[in-house]
Formats: sequence, C-alpha cells, structure tokens
Amino acid sequence: MSCLFCKIINREIPASIVYEDDHVLAFNDIGPQAPTHVLVVPKKHVPSLNDVTAEDMELVGRLVHTAASIAKVRGIDAAGYRTVFNTNRDAGQTVFHIHLHLLGGRSLGWPPG
Ligand code: 5GP
Ligand code: ZN
Repeated sequence: MSCLFCKIINREIPASIVYEDDHVLAFNDIGPQAPTHVLVVPKKHVPSLNDVTAEDMELVGRLVHTAASIAKVRGIDAAGYRTVFNTNRDAGQTVFHIHLHLLGGRSLGWPPG
C-alpha cells in the first residue's frame, strides 16, 4: 500500500520536512493556505479519521501534540492557529492518509466554507 503520503514518508517523493520521529512526520503543505500550513501525519497508514481504532489513540495524540509543538516553535501559539482533520467528501478530503492540518500566521475565518 503506497499512497502519496506513504511515498513522502518513505522518501520516494520529496517534501519540505519540518519534524520527524519514530511515529510521526510533519511537512509543509504544497499549496499553503496560510503562512504556516503544515501537515502532520502518522507513519502508519490510516486512511481517515473514520478508520482510527482504540489502538491508534496514542498516535492521534502524537499528531495533535506535534502540531502544538510546531506552533510553539514558530511562535504562533499565543496569537493562535487552527488544527483540522478533513474527513471524506463533505470536508474535502483529497489524500486518504490521515493528516492533521496546522494553519496559522494570519487571522482565520470561521465558520469555514
Ligand atoms: P485534504 O484536502 O485531504 O485535507 O488535504 C490534502 C493536502 O495535501 C492539501 O492541502 C494539499 O495541498 C496537500 N498535498 C497534496 N499533494 C501534496 C504533495 O505532493 N506534497 C505536499 N507537501 N502536500 C500535498
Ligand atoms: Zn499512506
């Protein structure tokens, strides 16, 4: 099973990587929607939030904690930022390897479109 983000994890295609550990990879989105737009992904292939199981709970925590850590390093934590999992069609999910968007560095509208 080699999806786009698995290929980035396996270094089969390049990405601008901002953080890596044994469980998680974070890289800049290729089409940034804000000054900071980072995607945080698990190294384990999980297609969407719908596929998260009880055994993935620690992994999801790692995604969220990694996003918060990157926000802190970038100095956008106090001003604020948004973290988003898009799931399936109505949310516009296009890559079916779970990814947490970290968006910040500008004021973000709410509700989203
Ligand atoms: P989704 O719409 O599934 O929530 O988000 C997928 C994201 O992946 C989009 O924001 C899109 O810009 C980003 N993306 C798609 N292809 C690539 C790629 O090859 N490299 C990187 N770094 N980001 C990508
Ligand atoms: Zn994958």
